[in-house]
Formats: sequence, C-alpha cells, structure tokens
Amino acid sequence: MPSIMIDSKRRTPAQSPPFSGRALLGSARYNKDSAFSIEEREQYGLLGLLPTTALSIDEQVELALEQLRQKGDDLEKFIGLLALQDRNETLFYRVLVENLAELMPIVYTPTVGKACQMYSHIVRSPRGLWITPDDIGRIPQLLRNAAEGDVRLIVVTDNERILGLGDQGAGGMGIPTGKIALYCAGAGIHPMYTLPISLDVGTDNPQLLEDPYYLGHRSRRLRGRPYEDFIEAFVEAVVQVFPRALVQWEDFRKGIAFTILDRYRRRVPSFNDDIQGTAAVALAGLLSALRITGSRLQDQRIVFAGAGAAGVGIGRLIQAALIEDGAAPQDIHRSLVFCDSRGLLTPTSIMTDPHKHPVAMTAEEMLHYGFNGSGPFGLLEVVAQVKPTVLIGTSAVSGLFTEAIVREMASHVEQPIIFPLSNPTSLVECTPAEAVRWTDGRAILATGSPFAPVEFQGRVHEFGQGNNVFIFPGVGLGCILSEAREVTDEIMLTAARTLATCVSQARLDRGAVYPDVGELRRASGLIAAAVIRKARDLRVGRRIDDHQVESLVSQAMWYPDYPAYS
Ligand code: NAD
Repeated sequence: MPSIMIDSKRRTPAQSPPFSGRALLGSARYNKDSAFSIEEREQYGLLGLLPTTALSIDEQVELALEQLRQKGDDLEKFIGLLALQDRNETLFYRVLVENLAELMPIVYTPTVGKACQMYSHIVRSPRGLWITPDDIGRIPQLLRNAAEGDVRLIVVTDNERILGLGDQGAGGMGIPTGKIALYCAGAGIHPMYTLPISLDVGTDNPQLLEDPYYLGHRSRRLRGRPYEDFIEAFVEAVVQVFPRALVQWEDFRKGIAFTILDRYRRRVPSFNDDIQGTAAVALAGLLSALRITGSRLQDQRIVFAGAGAAGVGIGRLIQAALIEDGAAPQDIHRSLVFCDSRGLLTPTSIMTDPHKHPVAMTAEEMLHYGFNGSGPFGLLEVVAQVKPTVLIGTSAVSGLFTEAIVREMASHVEQPIIFPLSNPTSLVECTPAEAVRWTDGRAILATGSPFAPVEFQGRVHEFGQGNNVFIFPGVGLGCILSEAREVTDEIMLTAARTLATCVSQARLDRGAVYPDVGELRRASGLIAAAVIRKARDLRVGRRIDDHQVESLVSQAMWYPDYPAYS
C-alpha cells in the first residue's frame, strides 16, 4: 500500500451535548450508555440513571459482540445491530469499524436482503426519508423534514431491483440505510451528513400488495412519463434543498439505471454504484491481476459474459482506462467483446436494451476474429475465436463457465484472468476451485461472493472478492470534500487505479487481487485523496493544494469514539 499518511483514527474533540438526563440517554448521537464518566454523570443529570460501574468503549464493544454472537440467526443479529444504532450511534459504528469482516455480511449483503423482504414485519424505528408519488408537489418540504444538518450524501433507491431479489417495495429502504452505514464505517463520513431515501413509487410485487401489514405505498409501480416526472421533481428538490449533496443511485432496474445516470450526472453530482462502483472494483481487480501477470491493459482481449448494468458498466470504464492509456479507439472496441443470453452481440443481434448497441461487435471485427455467418455464436465459440486473456462473468447464470470453456481459454493463455462476478454464491459462473483445477492452478480469480481459499497441488490459492465497498466510500468522501460538481468517468478510474495500488505484494503472491477488508478505511482514505486531486485537475472540484490533501482527508474522517463532555 502507498505510504502517504492518512490518519483514519482521529479523536473527536471535547464538546457539550445539547441534552441532559433521560433525553441525553435517549439521543443515539450523544448517548454513551455505561461509558459516561462519573464527572459527566454528575454534570449532566445522569446520577442514578445508569448502573454504577463505568465501562470503556472497548469494553462496551466486547459486550456488544458477545450479545450479538449469542444470537444464532443472522436476521436476529441484523435486528440487534439496528437496535444498537438506534440507541448508541457511536458504539454501533465502533463495533462495525473494528469488526467489518464479521459484520459486513450482516449489515449488508446477504443478510440485508432478507431484512428488505421482511421489512414491514421487523422494522422498529424507521430510518431515512420516504417519498411517494403523492408527495410530488412537496418534496423540498420532506427533504427539510429529514435533514439533521447539512446533508452531503444521499443514497436513493426506487426499490425495484433490490440486490438479486427484485422489487421489494418499501422494504428496499434496507439498502440505502445499509450502504450509508458502510460509507460511515468505511470512509468515516459522519452520519449527520447522510440521508437514505426510498422513492416509494409503489410495487409490482404481489406478495407485498397482498400483505395486510405492508407499510409502503400500496399501489402498482409508477411507470412511464409520471415516473420520469417524479424523478425530475426529486432531482430538482435535492438541488434546491441540499445543493452540496452527492447522490448515489442505488438498485434501480437496469434500463432505468442507465437512463437516470446519463440524464442527471451533470445536473447533480451523482453516480450509480451498480454500474460505476462495480466497474471500478472490477477494473481495480483486473489491474491488480495485471500486476501479477506483468502485462498491460492494452494488450488484453476481454470477453464479457453478461451485457447488463454490471457488464456494460465495467466495459465502459475499461474503455475509459484504455483511452487514458493512449490506446487507439478501434483497438479498444475490438478488445472488448460482449455476449448476452443470446450469445455474441453482433450488428444483427436482437438488442432491446439501447446500452448494448455501442458494445456489439462490428462486421469488420467479426471478420478479424474469424466469425462466419450470422450466428448465434455461443460463449465456447466466442472464447475459441477471440482467445481472451480475461473472462468476466456478470450473467447471473450458475455454471456458465463450463470446464470446456475454461480449458479452451487456458489452452492459449499462460495465466487466464477469470472473474465470475455473479451473486449470490449459487449463481456464480464457476467456482474458484473449478477454475483452479481446470487451469492446473494457473487462473487468477476474483469473484462477486466470498470464497474460501483452495489448496491445489500443494499451493494455497486465495481469491479477491470484488466488493464495491472498496470503492464507493472513498469516492463518496473524496467527492464530498472536493465538492465535485460531477462524478466523471476519470474520477471512477482514479479510484480503481488507486485501489489496485493498495494491494500488498504478499496478497498478490497468494492470488488475492483486493486488499483485506481490515484495510478498508486506509484504502478509502487513499482513494478519497486521489479523487480530490483528480476532481481539482479536471476542474470539477475545489482547488486544494497538494500538500493539504492528506490532512484534509484525515481531518474529515470520523473515527467513532466518545468525545469528552465538558
Ligand atoms: P443484468 O440483469 O443487468 O444483466 C445480466 C446480463 O447477463 C444480461 O445482459 C443477460 O442477457 C446476460 N445473460 C443472461 N444469460 C446469459 C448467458 N447464458 N450467457 C451470457 N450472458 C447472459 O444484471 P446486472 O446488474 O448486470 O448483474 C449481473 C450479475 O452481476 C448479478 O449476479 C450481480 O449480482 C453481479 N454483480 C456483481 C457485482 C460485484 O461483484 N461487485 C456488482 C454488481 C453486480
């Protein structure tokens, strides 16, 4: 990892809480529970309201973990963590920051998915802001109601494509709240600057509509022009009420996701994590893998199995990287080959999604690779003809990378780079163990879901998990601090390149192409610093001198610790 100093454990200065007595204990932001000192108890009317022994925050963390680990069920752990967040925000984040590897699967995927499905039945005190079509004329008022202060980060979903679970209606709120928890834990963005939003435009999920306890807007989903008008009104309101906020679009349906991103990215600083965050994390993994093979990005032939939001998003960013590296446009287009469920995308393919057209292979490129006739050309044939050095799976089709396909690829590449990125684990295109076996241990792998290391012929192979959490917190912090007007492709590219440099040689030697989750805050700090410089150089961000960047990031990164109350 680079040695630039980012202090991600800065102490919070002493302050005076605005409450005392029971109100202080009832304020999640200021509460310390048993960690109030004897002096603080005397000064703030807490004597007798707590058991007598004062604990340190470290002891509280141990206790909280003990309580959590006693719960056998992950959903119960999720509910327990939410209760802690509602009672004592500092302790919640301290527990999370110090145990990210253990707790990320609880506060985020996969457990959060279950929580979204059960939302109306498990929610105790709802977090975030709900906006329904009935609110279209008063969205600014709702935004003001929700603000605790100067909102700088909004994560917003319309709930239609929650993880791989589809339309979850109002329950989708679990995703923006979970993601914001990761922004705060992973990059030290203080929760008071954040706002999770659910655009509750109804649901087409019959189970929810039939559930008597469903808490959301009980109506079929808003579509077409009324939906577009609603999104327009939302963006207008954000610009008006929170002019300095960064917006992260989250879990919108594929077609809508590209449309919204392209329509609004210059009107409001915004990005779509499913498209751009995924792309940046995948590119970072690829660049790390190229550190192992010792080859250049412009010398790769990359086959994408899956031309949806994730696949095309990754392709767009690799294209931007190649342009930055000085590659010629025709070489770039030829080196990125896309397949969807009907096979190779060609000029004659049926493509209902407009985002697929620009990435389809041209007639000239088909000749170059020796494709004869009009197809369809399946993945095995594509691999045989194109001879890719990199194979990326975002198809959500379990077992798509068959032994024949992987062996075909490995027959012409010394170290095949294979990224079966589909989630959840059951949908992975091939398991890392299979890829290692079929390539005689030569494959370099990154997956979307976590996989345990594999031993093959006496060597232990580790795999990178291409988790977007390595990208979005750092990008968010950097854009907020630089007050970026736009989250450009170059900014995402910078984040990806920085993340690739964060992987230690020791991890690369074991085949892992991402840092350890325990290094997340440091990686986020470095990404934020790189983003600030890039935004400045592109003139979309504030002018911040080089020598001030790291200290700005260190100052801004909140480390969850109790300030002394004086
Ligand atoms: P999507 O529905 O937009 O795209 C899926 C694509 O796969 C479509 O183009 C479809 O035509 C194609 N496809 C289906 N069957 C195929 C086949 N047999 N051969 C080739 N292509 C086929 O979905 P998405 O949002 O792009 O997500 C796809 C997958 O990527 C999901 O499993 C998701 O979990 C995963 N993903 C991983 C990460 C990550 O690892 N960080 C991030 C985002 C998405």
